[in-house]
Amino acid sequence: LEQLPSTPCLDPHTLARSLSGAHFIGGRLVPSRSGRGFPVVNPATGAEIAQAADGDAGDVELAVANAAEAQKGWSQIPARKRGMLVHQAAQLIRDHVEELARLVALETGKALRTESRVEAGNVADIFEFFGGLAGEIKGETVPFGPDVLNITVREPLGVVGAIIPWNIPMMLMALKAAPALVAGNSIVVKSAEEAPLAVLRIVELMNRVLPPGIFNILSGQGPECGAPLVEHPLVKKVTFTGSVETGRIIYKAAAEKLIPVTLELGGKSPMIVFADCDFEKTVQGALTSMRFTRQGQSCTAASRIFVERSIHDRFVEEMARRVDAMVMGDPLDEKTDIGTIISPAQFDKVAGFIEEGKATAGAQGRACARMPADAALRKGLFIQPHIFTGLSKDSRLVREEIFGPVTVIFPFDDADQVLADANDTEFGLAASVWTNNLKIAMRFAHRIEAGLVQINQNLVVQPNLSYGGVKASGLGKEASLESMLEHFTHKKTIMVNMA
Ligand code: NAD
Repeated sequence: LEQLPSTPCLDPHTLARSLSGAHFIGGRLVPSRSGRGFPVVNPATGAEIAQAADGDAGDVELAVANAAEAQKGWSQIPARKRGMLVHQAAQLIRDHVEELARLVALETGKALRTESRVEAGNVADIFEFFGGLAGEIKGETVPFGPDVLNITVREPLGVVGAIIPWNIPMMLMALKAAPALVAGNSIVVKSAEEAPLAVLRIVELMNRVLPPGIFNILSGQGPECGAPLVEHPLVKKVTFTGSVETGRIIYKAAAEKLIPVTLELGGKSPMIVFADCDFEKTVQGALTSMRFTRQGQSCTAASRIFVERSIHDRFVEEMARRVDAMVMGDPLDEKTDIGTIISPAQFDKVAGFIEEGKATAGAQGRACARMPADAALRKGLFIQPHIFTGLSKDSRLVREEIFGPVTVIFPFDDADQVLADANDTEFGLAASVWTNNLKIAMRFAHRIEAGLVQINQNLVVQPNLSYGGVKASGLGKEASLESMLEHFTHKKTIMVNMA
């Protein structure tokens, strides 16, 4: 496979072609053993931009064997030196932020200005943050008497298997790979079928600094490539972001092997707006947390909004007005606010929810923002953002994760009732409460069943803050020192009798 440029390549089409057909294993770009590939498609045009290597159990075997061998040496390097290497490799990502942003915009349809550039910048931050934490991988001394020395030490787990989705592929890979590597593990990532390119480039770039074999990536389908990775006997930990359905399959497979798992799954996050909120900021907060800019393809999207009745109608109007003003179009165009849906399957699923909402008696579905007029985009997977009111709380649009630009808004009169409604979901990923009454805010913060509750703001990514869901939204935490220590090392106890 051809050598990739070390300088940024700002034409994402050229870069996509040069990344075609490759996994990255043992420090090298390698083709799939079967020689098979599958198309990677630009969702804004429907055109094929690359062929991804179609990984299977043979590729998993090669990657895990390389990772296991390399991990022996990597784990013996002092932690701070490992951290320095990861930090140094992160600089290459920083140097390539614009390149990576363009590539991820091309393969996922996420707008460059509003989404893709932000994601690429966050990736470098995450690797730098964990690189700097290496010195914190340490144990305790536990007193027992003058002649006994009890200590605990933190040891790496071995080879980590990571499986990621397509919506923020680079960032979700970084949140797994950075702590895993700094803690002394090696890692094999299985990328999402729809977005295998930017993550492959990141692994290739970082391998210019890191020793070969510790950071590997495969592309392929879930059952053919992801499942054998989870089941491989040398994989000692699995970390996964994706749907609840796949999370259950992975959890079962990991249970067979008795290995630890971290699961970051879906959400149906409530946003609760009281009449005393700062109206302007709150409407903006709804727009941002709904992530219309990413066509709503966000696990923490504010997909159920409850607004106190006295400001409900004004809130809906103002929200619709602002979404109307957003520009839907070519993801690579700097004027574009909103890009595309990821794939035809996801498009059909979202469109189905919208049709169902529109057909519901008593419900109003408001389509906002204009479809792009550009003929080159006529096969693009664009869906107008929809704001629904008047739905019943049992509606599928209210209960299921749509993962598209659709939000539902309800008026409320009673704080206890709205709290019960907010918690009436199988999910528990995120929530937000908007009010200037601190007592109400804190009461809700404590009673909402979610891994993350925000007061008067929407998602702010901070690598030093734990992040993760409860209920069907997942198990374990990502980001923070805690995620590295608790999820990528085990604590060994050593007792010395000196009597
Ligand atoms: P998905 O579960 O279909 O796929 C995710 C990954 O799992 C892909 O790489 C896929 O190939 C792989 N996979 C599929 N079947 C597998 C199997 N049997 N064994 C091993 N791997 C398998 O999810 P998706 O639709 O691509 O992603 C969207 C979902 O991800 C949404 O539910 C969203 O809420 C969730 N998500 C959660 C977070 C979070 O932080 N909690 C963040 C982003 C996305």
